[in-house]
Amino acid sequence: MLKTMFKGAAVLAVSCGVLSGCGTDGTDAQLDPQAENEEIISNLVEAGFPADDIMVADGLVYVGRDAHVTLEASREMLRPSEVSAEQYRTTNLVSTSTVKKICINPTSTFNSYTRLSQGLDLAIANYNGLGLAFTMARGPTTGCNANITAQTMSGTGGSAGFPSGGKPYGTINIGTGLNSYSVDVNEHVITHELGHAVGFRHSDYYNRSISCGSGGNEGSAGVGAIHIPGTPTTATVGGSIMNSCFRSTETGEWTSSDITALNYLY
Ligand SMILES: [Zn+2]
Repeated sequence: MLKTMFKGAAVLAVSCGVLSGCGTDGTDAQLDPQAENEEIISNLVEAGFPADDIMVADGLVYVGRDAHVTLEASREMLRPSEVSAEQYRTTNLVSTSTVKKICINPTSTFNSYTRLSQGLDLAIANYNGLGLAFTMARGPTTGCNANITAQTMSGTGGSAGFPSGGKPYGTINIGTGLNSYSVDVNEHVITHELGHAVGFRHSDYYNRSISCGSGGNEGSAGVGAIHIPGTPTTATVGGSIMNSCFRSTETGEWTSSDITALNYLY
């Protein structure tokens, strides 16, 4: 989700996921509750969660405002296959062993908005300029291992989802109001939404007021918020294309920490 900084804060829905531990039993008979919680907290810190984002209440460990973390979930975060990734990433990522080419397919309505259409080309070029383990291509085209539909929504923001099953999220929504902003702003918003689709959380997810002027902590949102090594743990205005809110002066280009994050993950 991306909003202009004068809009109200968005609220991410919390769903069942590894962090919320829905349907799983995280108890471990070999550990007493206090030792168990100490291990969970230790695992969370090692996985990159800021210490002030971790809370113990009624004998359970929480991260963010409302996501209970089980011992099993905290251990999963540290497994080698779970590449620890500021910027912040979701627990699930795109599997580059199977996804080498991601095709972005704009709807005809999307294509009818000149600056949205130009912004899409520039956003794709942003990813392809980094020599990542996957390429992106504007569809319709062939050889796609995964597809993302680019469609329109009302307003001047955007929305997308997060990867699952090793594939990027299948849709990005871009506000048609952005057609009256610069091509660079369109490039920024589309690059940002594609960033969510491949697993990036907001760089200021823990305090949206950094880029939005108001708003709080998005928490783990059921998808995880794992710090990417080599990037700052603290967000700044203009410091990342993945900040929650954008300005009308955005250039659409990666920042140095964005590049670090992408090169680390992919
Ligand atoms: Zn966003």
